[in-house]
Amino acid sequence: HHTRKRLVMGNWKMHGSLAANAALLDGLAAGAMRAGETQLAVCVPFPYLAQAQAALAGTPISWGAQDVSVHTQGAYTGEVAPAMLADFGVTWALCGHSERRALHGESSDLVAAKAASALAAGLTPVVCVGETLADRDADQVERVIGEQLAPVLALGAEALARLVIAYEPVWAIGTGRTATPEQAQAVHAFIRAALAQHGAGQTRILYGGSVKAANAASLFAQPDIDGALVGGASLVADEFLNIAAAVA
Ligand code: PEP
Repeated sequence: HHTRKRLVMGNWKMHGSLAANAALLDGLAAGAMRAGETQLAVCVPFPYLAQAQAALAGTPISWGAQDVSVHTQGAYTGEVAPAMLADFGVTWALCGHSERRALHGESSDLVAAKAASALAAGLTPVVCVGETLADRDADQVERVIGEQLAPVLALGAEALARLVIAYEPVWAIGTGRTATPEQAQAVHAFIRAALAQHGAGQTRILYGGSVKAANAASLFAQPDIDGALVGGASLVADEFLNIAAAVA
């Protein structure tokens, strides 16, 4: 019944070293078959993209960046252009992870511009949205998600068909507190309806927030959850592969 290709994506955040990554990437490459039909990907810190490329080229696992610039080149110290990512075989670029929205002041307009920038270079943006606990307690989930999505929806059907949305409630990220499958499904259905109104009802929507092998299957059983964006649990090859195997 689930026609959209499932995707399980790791977000290493600012973790790792050449030595630790080598072991993790080897473990992932060796066990990739366990994911079956589910697509596997890892978003690594910029300096390790070349290492990910060397370790994962020729495997079914693709790699991505955790951010991307809206600019193509120029006097933007510290920024990384999408074409630079493409130079390292990158497929994916996270856009607007909640840590970037909260800690780096990224607005929803900037996040949408990053998605457009990634698309223009042939990368697939993974646009992250999600409410805080205060938003949820105040019954503002759909308003907040709607505002975060609006500039992305404005990119149009063609762009929307080529990107991925990740619903990551801020209160569930790195907290060990996962949204229940029903809570997640309700927001995924809301996002799906907004995408459908803009001609992109089949865009993949990932769930993120303390996903682990033990809760993956019940999340993936929901009709509008097409996979997961995984932080902490993506740093352990076996756990990450067990999450993917839960859908396979
Ligand atoms: C994330 O950073 O995207 C995330 C979902 O983190 P965690 O799985 O650790 O909650």
